[in-house]
Amino acid sequence: MNLLLIGAQGSGKGTQASVLVKRLGIQHLSSGDLFRSAIDQGTPTGLAVKDFIDRGELVPDALTIQLVVDQLKLPEFQPGVILDGFPRTRDQARALDKALAELGRGIDRAIYLHVPREQLMDRLMGRYVCVAHQHVYNLKSNPPQVAGVCDLDGSELVQRSDDKPEKIERRLQIFFEQTIQVVHYYRAQHKVIEIDGNQPIASVSTELLRGLGVAAEGAA
Ligand SMILES: [Zn+2]
Repeated sequence: MNLLLIGAQGSGKGTQASVLVKRLGIQHLSSGDLFRSAIDQGTPTGLAVKDFIDRGELVPDALTIQLVVDQLKLPEFQPGVILDGFPRTRDQARALDKALAELGRGIDRAIYLHVPREQLMDRLMGRYVCVAHQHVYNLKSNPPQVAGVCDLDGSELVQRSDDKPEKIERRLQIFFEQTIQVVHYYRAQHKVIEIDGNQPIASVSTELLRGLGVAAEGAA
């Protein structure tokens, strides 16, 4: 089973990816891991990717797709994959479909974890980390016992520069303008399972597994 997991930052995508890995016994492949492992393996494609990243440039689509295809040929990805963070645009989705078809594979389901934009802003803006060990807190869902101080080591809590409102807004804007096109693209193929991500984590997981036709508990 080849799955796509689509959700904005703050949608709980990472948590649900872990649930799927456990329940379905297939590997999770995020775009970040994809680049890191290619670079570590020192393959020609990996070296090319490193060049772009070192220059601070975006890795071209064709190269990213080559990486996905290379990974999917590995034995551990034969039972399936949960792709996360790629494709991010309609063009990438189209190119990915074409490359997968050449391998005799395809995307079976695209899971969209839907959380309204205002809700995502709230979740992301409340995020603070401690300066000593980067322990993560959320002022709304997981506040420290004493305001501004880490429960575990007493160090100061700060907002990461990536978690400043203007940066969060920019990332969400890109998601709701570009990445949402990937949802539309797979919806036209009747492959989208849309899940309400604005509910407790366990309920999201249950709904997601039901959508995939897998029982939430018991043997797969
Ligand atoms: Zn701490």
